[in-house]
Amino acid sequence: AATKSLLQVRELEAWYGESHVLHGIDLEVGEGEVVTLLGRNGAGKTTTLKSMMGVIGKRKGSVSFAGEETIQLPSRAIARLGIGYVPEERGIFSSLSVEENLMLPPQVKPGGLSVQQIFELFPNIKERLSSQGTKLSGGEQQMLAIGRILRTGANLLLLDEPTEGLAPVIIDQIGATIRMLKSRGFTIVLVEQNFRFAQTVADRHYVVEQGRVIDMIANAELDANIDKLHRYLGV
Ligand code: ATP
Repeated sequence: AATKSLLQVRELEAWYGESHVLHGIDLEVGEGEVVTLLGRNGAGKTTTLKSMMGVIGKRKGSVSFAGEETIQLPSRAIARLGIGYVPEERGIFSSLSVEENLMLPPQVKPGGLSVQQIFELFPNIKERLSSQGTKLSGGEQQMLAIGRILRTGANLLLLDEPTEGLAPVIIDQIGATIRMLKSRGFTIVLVEQNFRFAQTVADRHYVVEQGRVIDMIANAELDANIDKLHRYLGV
């Protein structure tokens, strides 16, 4: 059955100063879907997430979320609609405890998880509650960064390379976390370098090249398209 569309991006362009980086991104994500953005370094994947979150100054085109046009909205207003962003660098504050980090983002929408519910999802974070944020392992920091976004009430999660720099066993845990979030109805757009990981969590994959979406591959078709994908990714 076709899922209800939650996010539609049309002809999205973005600039850093004078530098024109996105030249027309088109994609669509259904409610409850997990979709990845694949592509080489510098293709524009991170910039696509930042543009959807409204943290790129100059952008143009259309980003429609739950029926609302957001291209002109400031990032705080976009967050209030229910979009949460976990940047690649995770944004954990070293001077704050795990608990303080968890409480940091304001609740923007009803329906956010309670701290108790977040602990149930991420038991090892509970054990580290009074530790300093950056004393956590990379995997724990990633869980904390995802956990605190769940508090805000966001139902669309934008995750930028959550597996970056993590050991294989931790990558498996992140994969299990993403599948669990999907089963609870969250919609996820994930930037990934590692398409083998992407294959374990996603419904569909968009290929980004030079600021454009150049292809879309259903997860079930990924193996059949492996040569093409290798060419796209230059691996
Ligand atoms: P990566 O995996 O390397 O992050 P990416 O596909 O996410 O790749 P982006 O980070 O979106 O790519 O970068 C797209 C282009 O924009 C690149 O050419 C990059 O050099 C440029 N760029 C990224 N951030 C900035 C910035 N703050 N100022 C100027 N140019 C930038």
